[in-house]
Amino acid sequence: MENKLQARSGASRVLVIFGPPGSGKGTQAKLLRDLLKIPHISTGDMLRAHISQGDGLGVDAGSWMRSGRLVPDATVDRLVEERLALPDCAAGAILDGYPRTVDQARSLWAVLQRSGMSQLVIHLKVDYNKVIVRIAGRRQCPQCGLLYNLVANPPKEAGICDRDGQALAIRDDDRESVVRERLETYERQTRPVLEFLTASGWNICEVEGDDASPSEILVRIQDCMVSQ
Ligand code: ADP
Repeated sequence: MENKLQARSGASRVLVIFGPPGSGKGTQAKLLRDLLKIPHISTGDMLRAHISQGDGLGVDAGSWMRSGRLVPDATVDRLVEERLALPDCAAGAILDGYPRTVDQARSLWAVLQRSGMSQLVIHLKVDYNKVIVRIAGRRQCPQCGLLYNLVANPPKEAGICDRDGQALAIRDDDRESVVRERLETYERQTRPVLEFLTASGWNICEVEGDDASPSEILVRIQDCMVSQ
């Protein structure tokens, strides 16, 4: 299965992991990265890296993110275009959290056309009530970015990252009021992206994302990928 998938993604394919906050995009993106050996590009992580560096982009992005709103398109488009141009993306990449608006999808399409990369969207479908419960239990390692879930995927030792022993943290924007705002933002700005991608003929895999373990969902994604 792995070789078959690698062979198919060998011709520089960008995988777009698409779904609402808490749908498991980050978890699946990391599993796919390990499987396919192509970079995982999370716009949320890139923006958070700028926030920790305290640079101008980070200060600006932080004010949008803390209130659950989207960072302006131009900022994110430039980050992604520059990242996809790096040599480690020559064999493809996994986009997590991008595109999130129709304009971002147009910008990505133009970048793919210019670079000759193909695309496949993986849409993780979930029930919002399950998403809210799932996000409430989410913890992240501030050091390596690894995600845990107190119910579905707990660390071996409570509150501690398995990989590097750091104390796990709750992300500022994982608090319940902000999660509701993020789900509303998703409905308003991001769900129309899926309609746009469908109407514009992007390749899309529909995957049920809330009734199985991360490894079972990964198998569903792989099954869909080989058929594309
Ligand atoms: P989630 O997918 O769970 O919302 P992310 O880490 O992907 O978490 O995103 C966190 C926040 O970062 C978003 O709520 C938004 O403010 C900002 N962000 C991430 N990706 C984008 C994007 N493509 N466009 C605009 N803002 C973004």
